[in-house]
Amino acid sequence: MRAWVQFCLIYIFSGHSHLTLPCSVVLWRCSLSCCMPPFILNGSQLYTYSVCNVGEHEQDNWLRTTFIQRRPSASRVFVELQFIVRDCNSFDGSSLTCKETFNLFSSESDADIGTSFRKGQFKKVATIAPDEITSRNELRINTETRVVESLSRKGFYLAFQDIGACMALLSVRVYYKTCPATVKSLAAFPETVAGGGVNQALREVAGACVENAVSEEPPRIYCTVDGEWVVPVGQCQCMPGYEAVNDTCRDCQPGFFKAFVSNDACELCPVNTKLLSSGALLCPCAEDFYRAPDDPTTGPCSGLPSAPRELVATTTQLAAGKLQLSWSPPEDTGGRSDISYSVECRRCEGTACQPCGEKVRLEPASTGLMDTRVAVSELEPHLNYTFTVEAHSGVSLFASQGLPRSNRHVGSMCYLIFQSPPFLQLYQDDNLDVTTYTVLILEKSSVQISDLSPGTAYLFRVQALSPEGSPGGSSIEDEFETLTEVDGNERIKEKRTILGFWSEIIITDVSFLLFRRRNSHSRQGPEDTYFSSSEQLKPLKTYVDPHTYEDPNMAILKFASEIHPSHVTKQKVIGAGEFGEVYRGILKAPGRKEGAVAIKTLKPGYSEKQRQDFLSEASIMGQFSHQNIIRLEGVVTKFKHAMIVTEYMENGALDKYLKDRDGEMPSFQLVGMMYGIAAGMKYLSDMSYVHRDLAARNILVNNNLECKVSDFGLSRVLEDDPEGTYTTSGGKIPIRWTAPEAIAYRKFTSASDVWSFGIVMWEVMAFGERPYWDMSNCEVMKAINEAFRLPAPMDCPSAVYQLMLQCWLQDRSKRPRFPDIVSLLDKLLRSPESLKAIADFDPRVSIRLPSTSGSDGSPFRSVAEWLESIKMSQYSENFTCAGVVTMDQVLQMKNVDIKNIGVRLPGHLKRIAYSILGLKDQTSTLSVFAV
Ligand code: AMP
Repeated sequence: MRAWVQFCLIYIFSGHSHLTLPCSVVLWRCSLSCCMPPFILNGSQLYTYSVCNVGEHEQDNWLRTTFIQRRPSASRVFVELQFIVRDCNSFDGSSLTCKETFNLFSSESDADIGTSFRKGQFKKVATIAPDEITSRNELRINTETRVVESLSRKGFYLAFQDIGACMALLSVRVYYKTCPATVKSLAAFPETVAGGGVNQALREVAGACVENAVSEEPPRIYCTVDGEWVVPVGQCQCMPGYEAVNDTCRDCQPGFFKAFVSNDACELCPVNTKLLSSGALLCPCAEDFYRAPDDPTTGPCSGLPSAPRELVATTTQLAAGKLQLSWSPPEDTGGRSDISYSVECRRCEGTACQPCGEKVRLEPASTGLMDTRVAVSELEPHLNYTFTVEAHSGVSLFASQGLPRSNRHVGSMCYLIFQSPPFLQLYQDDNLDVTTYTVLILEKSSVQISDLSPGTAYLFRVQALSPEGSPGGSSIEDEFETLTEVDGNERIKEKRTILGFWSEIIITDVSFLLFRRRNSHSRQGPEDTYFSSSEQLKPLKTYVDPHTYEDPNMAILKFASEIHPSHVTKQKVIGAGEFGEVYRGILKAPGRKEGAVAIKTLKPGYSEKQRQDFLSEASIMGQFSHQNIIRLEGVVTKFKHAMIVTEYMENGALDKYLKDRDGEMPSFQLVGMMYGIAAGMKYLSDMSYVHRDLAARNILVNNNLECKVSDFGLSRVLEDDPEGTYTTSGGKIPIRWTAPEAIAYRKFTSASDVWSFGIVMWEVMAFGERPYWDMSNCEVMKAINEAFRLPAPMDCPSAVYQLMLQCWLQDRSKRPRFPDIVSLLDKLLRSPESLKAIADFDPRVSIRLPSTSGSDGSPFRSVAEWLESIKMSQYSENFTCAGVVTMDQVLQMKNVDIKNIGVRLPGHLKRIAYSILGLKDQTSTLSVFAV
């Protein structure tokens, strides 16, 4: 491509005299011995600079341009001349001095020197000779182009020297060449002056990947002296979710996805996946379909196997304590071939039921059965047994997070190795006042009970009768509750219970449970009871809100034991609560083992309302008794300085504990901590207690690294938590821990606690990192609303991250329940290899804000500043000693260099390496963790 340069021809010199013409003179007429009239060419007049002193000796006529500014990178310019030279032979008698050539000169200068012309300043560029000379009758216009090279100063002049020709200059055009702006291989390159610097044929040009494309090395290309692009280097490829179309990266079309950086086209979403609108990175599984951890995330999803069918027991050798269980494979394998079965055996002796364990032999095994039968032996007489057969596939583990457990059951077989006809007592219990009393005498070992009323509690007792009909020992009473009615016409039509001959009711009907699941939306009645798989087996103990007591002191009396202040010794302040200091101390009360305790105090000057709020925490905590819930030792209420005394947790709050051990704990241990928290939360949810402020800062850690849920005050979310932020719906909410429905309309349920639990899992895996880093609450809410979710922390097991994502499902009825979470984490801990698959980690996102720039968004000014931002300041000296003192040097570092300067811990090594990677590519956006 040519870039034209503007200038004028203004000075005409003849010998040593000169004549000045203004620049605007275009209609120049012959000024020397005029010999040629204006030409008429194609009907228009052409004015020329001409000279024709052929009869005179020693001609030295000069024509010079104005100062021509040079574009800094243009060191080669082209001069295109159009001219006419008259044939010397056409002049009679003057041919001795007549010439047929003229000379082109150039002179460089840093400034316009005006009219101070000196011939000595000019260097000859070329002698210009015509290809065709003009005879008397025929006009011949020549065009010649010459190159003026190696220009280096700010500008230059051109000059033409005539030494006795009869010639006319029609036009002088000056230009330099450029390679035009272009997009090649998804990289955009700017318009560039052709050729390299002085005497260089190629100019290297850096480009940038087009929008939504990335490359490992920056794209480059070369621009030749002729203005042509050659040798593109570095391959830009479209980011996940985009495909290359006409030099751009376009969103994948709806129903298509692209998971990786590549120039491949987007692929059609595989079967059983959701079709996202456009730009999908992956196609998430459609409802009720899942991927196992080993399944490729780009592959199809599979459904759960349906329940095994036709479970039968062959009891020919029952007397010998043997039976054979067999069943048929599930009707629907969910599209998978990795179906296996497990058989669970429970036995009940009198009123106590427990897993059969080693007491009953299941052959060939109780789990991982590929065959559809199992031999049971060593059954004992007078005991009740129940066998539950489950079909599993690779996705069962994941499906269990969001499904009622019973969906995976075939149902149970119950056997009583007992000969007497049984006797059944059935009570209908309305609000625990017995209203109906029914007795059924049965010949069989099971019973189906229909026509139960919805939303009603029933008590069951099973009793054996002797052959004569006199009653034998009975089981304990068990209470079960049927479901409440659902909205509209959809009612739970079938409520069937198969009752075994012992203290356990087994609700097994598969179609019933499937019905429930499919109707889980319509089940969300106005009160929106939160279902758990154990709902039918609700524990009788339920949390009592101290507010329901007219006199809050009565609640304290009921749930907390009074301690005399003389038995409590405060030792050291360990924290500050909303109401006053928290101390470590010793409790030494009669009849109790002396031990370390935490003592929460109420600061002086409190109001009666504050005192009651303070003590409400004890009324709540005192109702709980679980390994993973902070234990209340007692309260001091009868003296001026009220106190709450709890067990002492040596390692303090979990968030701080993890921050101090960043990268130093293995996943297994972290998952173990999560398991403890989940177990505590399961306990709370079983008691229908909704925590509302579950966060790592509210989990305490003891010496054995046991995690316990704490912080139960009634007003705590409103007042206590520094993370609490006022919302438009009123009240304070810790936004980044809280489920969207709780933020939007204060719908706090165990399902919103599950969301918070997901955030706690993330905090744990990220070693106390602040969720959503330094995004504002507003940005967090917006991002969540737009379906963004926190990305996997570094080194996070894939199964754990999947569980987090499940906890953050928008539809709260689809989130896993705490019992599901506990059993999943338990399974993961039992097979540590399941933690080996690590979730994709994108350093550009995961340590996005701190690592790619300084706090003000600008690049890091120093190595120390960068290390601090990724919380690795302890290595500052290692970097300095190794001579790595600039960020440019940091960017050159390879993993082995980081190791060599003394970063040994794998977690730290990765953090630093990933951060460097992130620094190299600052183009990331939050969209990487869209779900
Ligand atoms: P809280 O008012 O419950 O949030 O307690 C304030 C701080 O006191 C916590 O963040 C802990 O650092 C500390 N703390 C509270 N309870 C205990 C405890 N039982 N054992 C150890 N430290 C505690």
